[in-house]
Amino acid sequence: MKTPNRIAPLVALTFAALLATPAAWALPKIKVLATGGTIAGAQASQADAGYKSGSFSVEDLIKAVPQLKDLAELSGEQIANIGSQTMNHEVWLKLATRCNELLGQNDVEGIVVTHGTDTMEETAYFLSLVVKSDKPLVLVGSMRPATAISADGPINLYNGVALAANPEAKGRGPLVVLNDTIHYARESQKMHTTRMDTFHSPNRGIAGMMNTGKAFFYSQNTTRHTTKSEFSVAGFTTNDLPRVEIVYSHVNLGGETIDFLASQGVKGIVLAGVGDGNSTDAVLAALERAVKKGVAVVRSSRVGSGVVDRNVEVNDDKLGFLAGMELNPQKARILLMLGLTKTPEVKQLQQYFLEY
Ligand code: GLU
Repeated sequence: MKTPNRIAPLVALTFAALLATPAAWALPKIKVLATGGTIAGAQASQADAGYKSGSFSVEDLIKAVPQLKDLAELSGEQIANIGSQTMNHEVWLKLATRCNELLGQNDVEGIVVTHGTDTMEETAYFLSLVVKSDKPLVLVGSMRPATAISADGPINLYNGVALAANPEAKGRGPLVVLNDTIHYARESQKMHTTRMDTFHSPNRGIAGMMNTGKAFFYSQNTTRHTTKSEFSVAGFTTNDLPRVEIVYSHVNLGGETIDFLASQGVKGIVLAGVGDGNSTDAVLAALERAVKKGVAVVRSSRVGSGVVDRNVEVNDDKLGFLAGMELNPQKARILLMLGLTKTPEVKQLQQYFLEY
């Protein structure tokens, strides 16, 4: 007697059900928004230490990593093609607007932004405050140009696309991925001029690790960002962003630069102070004069990590200063700029530095 085959119909049924469910076979739709940087850079020759950022287009970048087609259905847009040392508010507004538009579409599951590493942490933090979506948004770059020996761009892009397509990356705010490491936008910081392990998250630690496209998250992002951020640049032009400048402290610094900035009508000054956000008596006196003229002053630190808290060595209450808390000067500039679009009140501005 023939034994009835009970397995075959089950296999056939499961296979038919899988085929009938588009989600089971459709790859996630991911957009690559390219802005330039070394990842798109070319050298004159392979042994050349010099190179030009932004030499390749977004299509070139995608084509250079054929394995990407197994991860996602990709399409690219060129937002800019610049070295990120020339990143500017105009490109930021264009990028933020495009991220909001695309992430608002049902057919886009995530975005990868390719970007130079010099100012990547600033763009990532800006986007974390003004993009209104919990879908994955990942920034990738490279330390070696596309034409270099052992270029790191292809693996970084591969990891970036894999992460943007990963539901685990949702709700974490923009992520920075380089050198197999995932950083939260607010924590990320470029800390070496040339090495591939240049990005660190010195205060709260890294978000996780990548292993050839596989993500391992180690921590949660507990600060306010994206859908929980109250800041928006919808409808903004660059004139809507108040001018905030950074002054770098050092031995023997005088107050002239600060007096000059205040006379030019800047709305905010961030002190990249020594140690715990401190400076010379002349600088503190000039900052006090600036506050009296209506300039918002934030004390941050040039040391690269740690917290600048209120009223430790400097009497912020008396002088009318804000403490930058965990933000480095370049990120404190961004939060102060966006904060000033909402209020000039010191108490409320300080609250932003505690929450974002
Ligand atoms: N200046 C370049 C840039 O930021 C070099 C740094 C890089 O991309 O790695 O675009």
